Amino acid sequence: MKRIPEPFRIKMVEPIKMTNEDDRQAALIEAGYNPFLLKSEDVYIDLLTDSGTGAMSANQWSALMVGDEAYAGSRSFIKLEQSVQTLFRYQHVIPVHQGRGAEQILFPNMVKHKQCKAPVFISNYHFDTTAAHVEMSGAKAINVLTPAALDTCQWDDFKGNFDLDALSKTIKEHGAENVVGIIITITCNSAGGQPVSLANIQAVAKIAKENNILVVIDSARFAENAYFIKQREQGLSQTPLGDIIRSMFTCGDIFTMSAKKDPMVNMGGLCCFKDDSQLDLFRDVQVSCVPMEGFITYGGLNGRDMEALNVGLWECADEDYLEYRIGQVTYLGDLLREAGIPIQYPTGGHAVFVDAGKLLPHIPAAQFPAHALANHLYLEGGVRGVEIGSLLLGRDPDTGQQKTSPFELLRLTIPRRVYTNDHMKYIADCLIAVAANVDKIKGLTFEYEPPVLRHFTARLKEIE
Ligand SMILES: *Cc1c(COP(=O)(O)O)cnc(C)c1O
Repeated sequence: MKRIPEPFRIKMVEPIKMTNEDDRQAALIEAGYNPFLLKSEDVYIDLLTDSGTGAMSANQWSALMVGDEAYAGSRSFIKLEQSVQTLFRYQHVIPVHQGRGAEQILFPNMVKHKQCKAPVFISNYHFDTTAAHVEMSGAKAINVLTPAALDTCQWDDFKGNFDLDALSKTIKEHGAENVVGIIITITCNSAGGQPVSLANIQAVAKIAKENNILVVIDSARFAENAYFIKQREQGLSQTPLGDIIRSMFTCGDIFTMSAKKDPMVNMGGLCCFKDDSQLDLFRDVQVSCVPMEGFITYGGLNGRDMEALNVGLWECADEDYLEYRIGQVTYLGDLLREAGIPIQYPTGGHAVFVDAGKLLPHIPAAQFPAHALANHLYLEGGVRGVEIGSLLLGRDPDTGQQKTSPFELLRLTIPRRVYTNDHMKYIADCLIAVAANVDKIKGLTFEYEPPVLRHFTARLKEIE
């Protein structure tokens, strides 16, 4: 099993509180059997998300000190703009407070400019805030993910790909004049951080061009996607990563980015336009930015935040870093697979998805097997994961019935540069210990069920 050592040494440490089983039992009862309601103090290893949880480098921390806090035209903005122009070859740069900030200023303007009757966006898979902002702008969000993504045990190099036939069919069905944009999500978060191939990105761009549809690249994990392309795609293993990144981005017209993911800042985002071909749209997005995010050269960010983001954009695209990063996630996945624990295979860029439906066949979907597994992983070792399944999906608003989820997964999301490979081994040991006693795990029912987004605040109890 390949274990790639950390390409950094540790200059500053953050102590974590060690807990015992009694502490964790008490904390979980207090939290209503919902890890979302745990205090982070009571968590030993926190795998809830990779968003805003990365560790900044010495270079990023020191860049904070030279931030220019001018309201307009700050030096920090100009540096960031130049980095985006060099790294992605995108000319126009708008900083935003995070990914959804880009979505809220971009999508309504795209819909307005398209001037159509029944607007839709098509994506390999809309991230949840992305789908929400598409819908808030009055459009429909349609996903056309490759069916290969649904078979968790079967290796496929690019489980984040578009189903190109389904894409063409969907455009025909709705009429190209109604398709406001095609959103390419790299990597495909909702499919498990799975990559999209360069060939697939290029094919999507070709279809878009033929139909006069704009391409938006949702690029939170652009560097991880580029690394997978370099590893797996025919003929690209010798291509410099920067060239692969530019080849991906040249296929888009606009990109949005949550910089809380790959670029390893705690808060930040971008909304960028490739050239002057969409100048009117770009200007309207700038106009929306001012009242919603902030003036066009800071968009909700401090000057110092833009400095840290500027450094992070380059650091996350470093190949030694990416080899370790992707290698660490793979290492955890391999430890689990070797112990016979079913996971989404191959592992993606930022998380390991455990197939709780397969591991806990005695618990029906409506009793949330992946959430029950998350609770037991916490009790075993203080590790906090998150359910991606029926609890997250919720009820049909019309019928009140539980919606049928295609899978019951426990997501173990790995923050960047935060935990060591020893932590990965510990996580695997804990989950293997839990899996040895799965028949002891009970299903769950609600003590309190919130009407919307219930997974965040629900309180549950075990079914005796
Ligand atoms: C996180 C994320 C977003 C939203 O970004 P925030 O910074 O959380 O607002 C959009 N798209 C993808 C693919 C993401 O992972």
